[in-house]
Amino acid sequence: CGIVGYVGSRQAAPILLEGLEKLEYRGYDSAGIAVRDGDKEPVVVKAKGRLRVLADKTDNGHALKGCCGIGHTRWATHGVPSETNAHPHVSTDGSVLAVHNGIFENYLEIREKLARHNYRFYSQTDTEAIVNLIDYYYKKYKMGPIDAIAKTLVRVRGSYALAIMFRDYPEQVYIARKDNPLIVGLGEGENFIASDPSACLKYTRRVCYIDNFEMGCVTKDSVTFYDLNGDVVEKTPVLIDWDE
Ligand code: GLU
Repeated sequence: CGIVGYVGSRQAAPILLEGLEKLEYRGYDSAGIAVRDGDKEPVVVKAKGRLRVLADKTDNGHALKGCCGIGHTRWATHGVPSETNAHPHVSTDGSVLAVHNGIFENYLEIREKLARHNYRFYSQTDTEAIVNLIDYYYKKYKMGPIDAIAKTLVRVRGSYALAIMFRDYPEQVYIARKDNPLIVGLGEGENFIASDPSACLKYTRRVCYIDNFEMGCVTKDSVTFYDLNGDVVEKTPVLIDWDE
């Protein structure tokens, strides 16, 4: 399973597909990407089976326009491998969209609570519950994305690498991690998100490793890291000196 993300000036979809290919060795049963063109709605494409199926569905990514996006290969833990259960997952009204590697243990309880607040679920995944919980806090407390994500992560149990997009923030990808790998690759006027550096080595060797319980906000020109209190964490990038 793997996660990739891109924010920059190039077309995101081909870069995301290429990154997912580099992560194929991690194993997966389905895959998906979401790409956004400015403040238009994100377009989500998912496929069961090989990445080739996803690549064919999107003309190797060229069918999708937009310079901001996230991608995922899934190793199913909750819910059968299927196109519906594949990531990205989208909140009930489409405000929040995310990919996730890992397991949210207490997702059923969260799902039941949210169902009482008119959230509707289309998949069997633990991930969909948590995407909606982020949306719930975001709206209920009128919080910024980082605070809504932090509040959610304090409420859940489990492991995660997450890449999240908010409808209200068209050119930003938010990330968080605990017990599943996640890095940010720093480019010039573009930044990359990946489960490991091999997915973005073609573009950059300057990488920031995310620690447990850290979050981040990635734009084309900046990357800011936060702890779960919402305080900024300073990080020194490392230079990767190995090849793929
Ligand atoms: N638990 C999530 C699911 O089953 C994510 C699995 C993964 O790590 O790919 O959808």
